[in-house]
Amino acid sequence: MIIVIDGPAGSGKSSTARAIADRLDIEYLDSGALYRTATLIYLEANRDKETFFRLLNQKNISFYYEDQKFHVAVDGESVTNKIRTGEVTKSVSEVAALPRVRSFVNNLMRDVVLDGIYIAEGRDLGTAVFPDAELKFFMSADLEERAKRRLSERRKNNPGLTLEEVKQNIAERDLKDSKRQADPLKKADDAIEIDTTNLSFEQQVDKICLEIREILKETE
Ligand code: C5P
Repeated sequence: MIIVIDGPAGSGKSSTARAIADRLDIEYLDSGALYRTATLIYLEANRDKETFFRLLNQKNISFYYEDQKFHVAVDGESVTNKIRTGEVTKSVSEVAALPRVRSFVNNLMRDVVLDGIYIAEGRDLGTAVFPDAELKFFMSADLEERAKRRLSERRKNNPGLTLEEVKQNIAERDLKDSKRQADPLKKADDAIEIDTTNLSFEQQVDKICLEIREILKETE
């Protein structure tokens, strides 16, 4: 079974999905982390597309969720922290716009969700990757609010980061993600929209959990 949450950067998808996975004891899948991993390989290939696609096909990408963290490894070596650097964040939307990268990541995800109950989050999961998902959510929030949340998460590792920088990065990624040809960021027609601007974290988690519990009851 697959439940999806889509939405723009900083809308709270990732923290919410992790809290739900823990509360309901289900699996969590972070599609953005897989695009970030592809981006790391792209940077390693010095942005040369031929080398990049060769490396992408050769490397073994593995991932799992544990202790509130989505862990990713490439050929057995952890890249969980490396995929969160500013360099990767700046280039990820460019790499994620490549159709070959999208089908690569989609195949990784579709293979893994065959067994178990998953909550997955991303941009196009309800529209392109899992159009038949049992339940779909689309989370949104004002740009200012999203930037503030992202800044408070990132400041620990990057004390010099400013609200303006975060806001600019989020706005640029949103634009690229929603304007690209291949599977843009978009609310699925049958997704439940959750605007989190004025919701507390607990309120947004409760709201989504309630809907999921209903579905789980129906399938029991
Ligand atoms: O979720 P996160 O911010 O880590 O995602 C990083 C980037 O990966 C997004 O800005 C977007 O360009 C890309 N992405 C995507 N489709 C998804 C998930 C992420 O294009 N399903």
